[in-house]
Parts: sequence; C-alpha cells; structure tokens
Amino acid sequence: EGRWFAVRVAPLGTHGLVLVLAEDLTESRRVEAMRRDFVANVSHELKTPVGALALLAETVEGAADDPEAVRRFSGRMQHEAVRLTNLVQDLMTLSRVQGEEPLPEVRPVALDEVIAESLDRSQIRATSKNIDLGSGGATGLKVRGDEELLVTALRNLIDNAIAYSPENTRVVVSTRCCDDDGDGQPQVELNVTDQGIGIPAGELDRIFERFYRVDPARSRQTGGTGLGLAIVKHVATKHHGTVSVWSEEGHGSTFTLRLPLLTTRPPDGPTPEEPD
Ligand code: ADP
Repeated sequence: EGRWFAVRVAPLGTHGLVLVLAEDLTESRRVEAMRRDFVANVSHELKTPVGALALLAETVEGAADDPEAVRRFSGRMQHEAVRLTNLVQDLMTLSRVQGEEPLPEVRPVALDEVIAESLDRSQIRATSKNIDLGSGGATGLKVRGDEELLVTALRNLIDNAIAYSPENTRVVVSTRCCDDDGDGQPQVELNVTDQGIGIPAGELDRIFERFYRVDPARSRQTGGTGLGLAIVKHVATKHHGTVSVWSEEGHGSTFTLRLPLLTTRPPDGPTPEEPD
C-alpha cells in the first residue's frame, strides 16, 4: 500500500525559487473510504427491512379475506418494524458517542444502579430462553459518566450474552475492583460472562467494528443490528475506559468493561495555607 500526497508548488519571489508543500493524504483518504463504506452499509441494512415491509404490505392487501394470513403477515410486519426501529436507535446512539468531543453531561454514577437497571431491562429476554441472569462481586462503586450510556453499553453486552447462548444456561455480571492502570488511577471491571457459542479466535479483533458479525444470518435472526459492540467500544472510550473480550469457541465468552473508578480522594494540589 502506497501513501498519497497532495503537492502544492508556489513561486517565491522573482529568482525562480519555488516552495513545495506536501500534505499526507493517506489518512484523509482512509477516513473518506470508511465513511463511504459506512453509508453503503447503512443503506444496505435499511433497505432489507424496508423492502420486506413493502412486500408484506402488498401481500396482506391480497390476503384481505383470509384472517389467519392477515394475522401472520401483520406479525412479520411488526417484526421488521422493530428491526428498523432498533437500527435507527443504534445509529443515533452511535452518532452520539463516536465523535471526538467529550460527553456533555457527566456526573457520579453508582455502578450498582447501572447493573440493576441493565439486568431489569434484559430480564424478559433471559426468561424467554430460561437463562439464569445474575450478578455478583464488589458493590458500592462509582464512576464518572453518563448513566444512560453506561446502561446502554452494559445492556448490549448482556443482550449479546443471551442472544449467543443456548437455553438453560447462565449469564453473570460480576464487578471487580480495583486494579491500577499503572498511573495510580484505580480501575473497576464489569465482566459479562456467558456459556454460549463463543467467538473464533481469528474474529476477536473484528467484532467491535461497525456491522461486523461472525454469523450474519444468526445475528439478524436474533434482531441484532451489528452495531452493539461498536457502541460499547465508543461508550468505553468516552468514559476513558476500555472493552475487551476473552472467548473460547463452543464454551462461552467474557466481555470486560474497564472504567476509571471515581475516588473521593481530594485532587492533588497545594495544601491551603493556614492563616496566621
Ligand atoms: P449483533 O447485533 O450482530 O449482535 P454486535 O456488534 O453486538 O452485533 O456483535 C458483533 C458480533 O459479535 C455478533 O454478530 C456475534 O457474531 C459476535 N458476538 C457478540 N457478542 C457475543 C457473545 N456473547 N457470544 C458470541 N458471539 C458474540
């Protein structure tokens, strides 16, 4: 792969001297190509449910005198509409978190509440597959951030754990505190562990990319948008944290969200002087 340069030549004075300016375009070309790919992917993902809806609407019209068929096709229309809504919702969340700018509203967030809220919202899905959804580990911890985004991230990990696991298994959210990031900043870990299908080693570094799926058919069948882990990655970054994965194919996966712990230690600085 070569590198691309824009070269500008400007004459300097009257002595035949020229100024040559070279600008490296490799990065901007790469960004532009990624943007183009993303728009193509979004269009494709939108086209599928919209096309299905149009076709189903036509079919329902033709089956007006068969109530059973109308019921069946309406159900499928609802399914496609939900898919479309999820996709638009995820696209909006992604656009909120993937930019460079810092989060507009950050405040102390209790992780116990983030976990309780996420488990609550995912419980119906777990119950429908008879999956035992539980939590454990350290409690009473806080981070600085946006509670709604943290719930979204944790929920994406829990929903994936449920989606890619067989019935009658366990999904556990466990909290661990506190490793040091090497800079004196304690880190808290949220681990989501499942006993599901796992991820092939060769795919592990790609699953956080937008629209990347190990098995596209399976992802669509479970209502996945292919954006969940990209959102988790950006939410982690926005909170000065990371997300990582450990997995063994056929046995299960653990996703780890690592965030800087909010400590109550006063900020370093000169001690105020005592009045005389
Ligand atoms: P999707 O909407 O397809 O689930 P994600 O971005 O959330 O999109 O995940 C990307 C892909 O990573 C999934 O399609 C799936 O192949 C894989 N994946 C994510 N979580 C798990 C998990 N807990 N177990 C197995 N595979 C997973």
